[in-house]
Amino acid sequence: MRRPSPIAIVLLATGIPPVAFTIALFVLGSIPDNIAPPLTIAFVLIPMVVFLPLFAFVGFKDVARRTRRQIVRTKTLVFHCPICDAGIPHAGLRELRRARREHIETLHPEFFHHARRINKLAVLYWAGLIFLAITATFWFFVKSYVLSLAGFLAVLPLLYFLNWFFQKQVREFRRRWTEHASAQPLKNTP
Ligand SMILES: [Zn+2]
Repeated sequence: MRRPSPIAIVLLATGIPPVAFTIALFVLGSIPDNIAPPLTIAFVLIPMVVFLPLFAFVGFKDVARRTRRQIVRTKTLVFHCPICDAGIPHAGLRELRRARREHIETLHPEFFHHARRINKLAVLYWAGLIFLAITATFWFFVKSYVLSLAGFLAVLPLLYFLNWFFQKQVREFRRRWTEHASAQPLKNTP
């Protein structure tokens, strides 16, 4: 078995206390007002101060790695469509966007319109997430600790939800395409 990286250990060590604290809070009902602030600071605020930037950093590194891989793949000058796997030749990174767009718009118009709609919704979604994070911070300062915690804990999975949702859509369109292609074996290239 692979040994977990130090970053993963720190993420776990700082991610678990806030969750455990919230669960304890719900189980116990409430904690006395005079010990609530120090406990919240120790179990939530300090871990979160470490967890959130580290989480953002790991996420950023992941995106950077994927982008690098994409660039390496781009240098081969063939892009593989996520829906039909067709190789789309192009003349470089700038061309790639246009070529990909054209391919998806003509061969997968349903997906094209769908993705456009999702992109519009994504703007609203991010605005909502930022609003939720600000609200959670506000709740903390007005001492609504449970609300504040619930807000922060909701933000974390929501950060990944949109990406997950989009990947799921891609898989669904891909599945439909494969079924369609196997139903009409003679009509596979335009
Ligand atoms: Zn395609």
